[in-house]
Amino acid sequence: AKSAGRGCYAVFDPARGRREHARAELSAAIPEALAAGEFFLDYQPIVPLSGDRIDAVEALVRWRHPDLGVLSPVEFIDLAEDDGHIMALGAYVLMQACRAARRWYDLDPEGAPIISVNVSAVEVADPSWLTRVEKTLTETGIPPHRLQLELTERAFMADDGGPLAALRALADAGVRIALDDFGTGYSNLAYLGQLPLQVVKLAGPFVQRIRDSAGATDFVVLESIVGLTHALGFTATAECVETRFQAEQLRALHCDTAQGWYFHRPLTEEGVTELLEGQRRD
Ligand code: C2E
Ligand code: CA
Ligand code: CA
Repeated sequence: AKSAGRGCYAVFDPARGRREHARAELSAAIPEALAAGEFFLDYQPIVPLSGDRIDAVEALVRWRHPDLGVLSPVEFIDLAEDDGHIMALGAYVLMQACRAARRWYDLDPEGAPIISVNVSAVEVADPSWLTRVEKTLTETGIPPHRLQLELTERAFMADDGGPLAALRALADAGVRIALDDFGTGYSNLAYLGQLPLQVVKLAGPFVQRIRDSAGATDFVVLESIVGLTHALGFTATAECVETRFQAEQLRALHCDTAQGWYFHRPLTEEGVTELLEGQRRD
């Protein structure tokens, strides 16, 4: 399924039949939900493994559904991709994220984190996407180098080259491009060097193989991936770091930054603001 590899675990769904029916309905409700302001963002800090200042925050969308409660993006992003609503949803997410980034920047230009936004492969393949990103940056006054876009391999693989050209243009303008969920999917190491990347995000399932019981090969594989990432001039970020042991091992492997419950759960905008204020006082 497309959702395998999303988040930290593959999604196991025992109630598939019931869900299939609900899916169509849920999907059709997206435009109205957008208009009603039912979507909101949480922000999860990304921290350096040596040092303590927040490097970036990843915007994670949620849907406060009037009947179903707060839905995870795993429940609706695929749907939005299939019926095209991802364009409007993605535009909303990018705008909200840049506005929050702007507010943090206005509070403290030095300490403000880079804003990292997930972008669907479907969005990148749309010819209007590049212009929209540029316009959002201009309108919110976010300098390009303060924006990071997270894309999975799928986004780089369209044959007509359109997505790659758009990503190159943004990278040339200074936007940081991150390869999300590396280690799931095809993960063809050889083509990494050809992509306009600055950051490789090691997927959760990969990171979670780091345990006391992990075999030596797990470490060798991780170490060589981090090494290759660096050899290509990219930064390595580990996702879904849940334990101190994982954080220490990743630091020993020279991974640069990390994200996960061990450091911070996804926070509200105010939560991030408080964190930044605390950081400023240290
Ligand atoms: P992702 O990009 O891999 O995001 C990380 C997911 O892992 C988030 O789940 C986050 O809450 C969760 N997570 C973070 N730290 C930990 C940890 O230590 N342990 C565990 N078990 N989980 C952790 P979330 O928020 O449910 O997002 C799931 C996926 O939905 C994201 O995976 C991303 O692919 C997608 N997504 C989220 N927001 C957007 C969006 O605005 N646009 C698009 N296109 N996709 C989005
Ligand atoms: Ca992501
Ligand atoms: Ca990820």
